[in-house]
This record gives sequence, structure tokens and C-alpha cells, in this order.
Amino acid sequence: MQIRKIAFIGTGIMGANIAGHIMDAGYDLTVHNRTKDKAAALLARGAHWAASPAEAAADADVVFTMVGYPSDVEDVYLATDGLIRTAKKGAWLIDLTTSSPQLARDIHDAAEVEDKHAFDCPVTGGEQGAIDGTLTLIAGISQQAAAPVLPVLESFSSKIFYFDQPGGGQTAKLCNQVSLASCMVGYADALALAEQSGIDAEKVLEVMASGTGGSGASKTLAPKSLAGDYKPGFLAEHLRKDIGLALQRSEDLEITLPGAETAFTLFDMLCQIGGSRMGTQALTLLYQEEATCAVAGLDWSLLDQGDEDEHECHCGHDHGDGHECCGGHGHDHGDGHECHCHDHEH
Ligand code: NAP
Repeated sequence: MQIRKIAFIGTGIMGANIAGHIMDAGYDLTVHNRTKDKAAALLARGAHWAASPAEAAADADVVFTMVGYPSDVEDVYLATDGLIRTAKKGAWLIDLTTSSPQLARDIHDAAEVEDKHAFDCPVTGGEQGAIDGTLTLIAGISQQAAAPVLPVLESFSSKIFYFDQPGGGQTAKLCNQVSLASCMVGYADALALAEQSGIDAEKVLEVMASGTGGSGASKTLAPKSLAGDYKPGFLAEHLRKDIGLALQRSEDLEITLPGAETAFTLFDMLCQIGGSRMGTQALTLLYQEEATCAVAGLDWSLLDQGDEDEHECHCGHDHGDGHECCGGHGHDHGDGHECHCHDHEH
């Protein structure tokens, strides 16, 4: 099949940039996003608008999704008017969202039955990688099977890892995220120690960069933390979601991930006190005086307020029990839906 028409669903921080590269490569692009404004720049450049995922996919050879949570992925693919039913036969359905490995397998299997090709393809490289078109892709498919869509994937990436099986991309991405989360806690600890000791924290970052204590996170994010720049590149609530998915997987495997446990506690705290929509680098605010946090927009009095009903899941899916869940798969709320976030006390 010659690929000409592409649909892109989810034009947020990452999606809008990725879709721009797909347009640059000459494909005919149709976009849909929950909030239309966020597609404005693409529409101004000549992308077509669709009022729903179904409308976007109707005529598309390839449909990309880059939404927020597993619950969003589930809605877009598996709802009655979702992509599995509404995309055309033979279409490729590629999910770039960081989501649940089990959901990726479910979508792959459902698509196969309908004569469509679906695979998980989460990304790493951050907002800058999306802007530059140099993302690393982590694909849950073999290199050979993905060959027909390779030119499109290459339009916004510089490296592709193939994990050969449905859900394999998501699992590998979650491995990356638990490492990232611990690296972030590591640099936040280091900066707190430096600042409280009265030594130059910026110089400490230089030391870390020239030795083995540094990381990608300390290189790119710690300077923003030090400068008080908490604007999102990568939303704190999305990293909490990712660690929650990894911890759920670790429970399934009956292993413990102590670094991820610690990071989850800290990012959950940050989200509870008003930092959900800040960049992950706002983690260092947790180490600061309350007054400094207040200036940045955090409110410590909000901590644990959501726990009064003993429900502790924070991931964005309303179950009608006054409780929001991650929208992943694995934890039954008694409403036929399984939630995958780690942080449950039902
Ligand atoms: P974002 O800015 O929140 O973008 C997500 C977009 O999806 C939003 O614009 C949202 O609409 C839209 N959306 C959600 N559900 C939808 C639905 N059912 N139908 C249509 N549109 C829908 O987040 P992001 O930073 O781009 O991240 C997207 C995903 O990539 C997340 O899973 C994240 O964990 C992952 N990721 C992010 C980064 C990063 O550095 N930012 C890096 C790698 C991976 P609204 O505009 O209405 O909210």
C-alpha cells in the first residue's frame, strides 16, 4: 500500500511537533484533538481538521495517536466508534502514547481481527526531540513487519528500537521511565544537599556531568530546576502515570522496585499539592521551604486531601465513585473497567 494520507490524534506538547514533521515530509495530514485550539498551528499550515477520531481515520492509510493516559488510548481505539472499528481495512494504527503494555496487546489483537495493523510505539527524547524530529522510537513490532511505515516513522525520529511483540515497546518504555524517575530523585537529592551545605549547586552539576553521578535528567532538567523554570516539557502527572504503570507491572511479576516506589511517592506528592501540570523538574520544589513552593504555585495544605475516601488512585479516569483512576488495565473498580495505577486502596 502506498502511504499518502495520515491521521494524527492528540496534538499536545509532543503530538503537535511530531505531526508537523509528518507534514514536512509531504504527507496529507488530518488532525483531531480534544481541544481544537492546540491544533491551530497545524491547521494554519494546511492540515485538515476532523471532529472525531473516527472522522480523522476514515480515509487514512496510517493513524497515529499521541494522547495522555491509557484511558484516553482505550477510548480512542476501543469505544464503539473507536479506531478499531472505524479505520479502513489494511490501515496502520500506531500508538505513540506511553501506555499500558496489556492494553497495547488488546488493541493489537482487536485490530488483527478487523484486518488492520496496530502496534505500540512509545517515544523518548522529550519535547526537544519532538521539536527537532530526533525522537527515539520503541516499537512493539519487528523491523520486518514495520517496513511499510518506516518512511513515516523516520520523518520524526533518529533511532528505532524494535521489541518484536505487541506491548514490548510499552514495557521497554516503562523500564526507561523507572530509570528516569530514579535519576530525577538522585539529582534532586544532590541539589538539596549542595544547597543546604552552602556550596555552589551549579558547580556540583558540573562535577556530576564530568563523573559518573550525572544522567540525562541531571544534564537537561536540573539546570531548569535550579533556574526555577517549571514549565512543562514533560508533565509531572505523566511521569506519575508511567511509574504507576511500571509498579503495577512489578506487582504482576511479584518483584519490588524500591527506586520506583520512592519516586512514585514523591511525584504523587508533587501532583497532589498542585504540581500535576508542571514539568517533572518541579520535583526539586519538594525540598524547598513552603513559602518558595507557594510562590511557584504549590499548596502543601492539599496533601492527602484526596485520601478521605480511602481511594488513592490519581490517574484521570472517573469511575463514578468520586475517584479518578489511571485508566489502565489491571485493577477492577467493579464497573467493568480495570485500573492500572499502582496507588490503590479500594
Ligand atoms: P499533552 O500535551 O497532554 O498531549 C496529549 C494530547 O492528547 C492533549 O492535547 C489532549 O487533549 C489530547 N487527548 C487526550 N485524550 C484525547 C482524546 N480522547 N481524543 C482526542 N485528543 C485527546 O501530553 P504530551 O506531553 O504531548 O504527552 C503525550 C503522551 O506522550 C503521554 O502519554 C506522555 O506520557 C508521553 N510522552 C511525553 C513526553 C514529553 O516529554 N512531553 C515524552 C515522551 C512521552 P487536550 O488538549 O484537550 O488536553
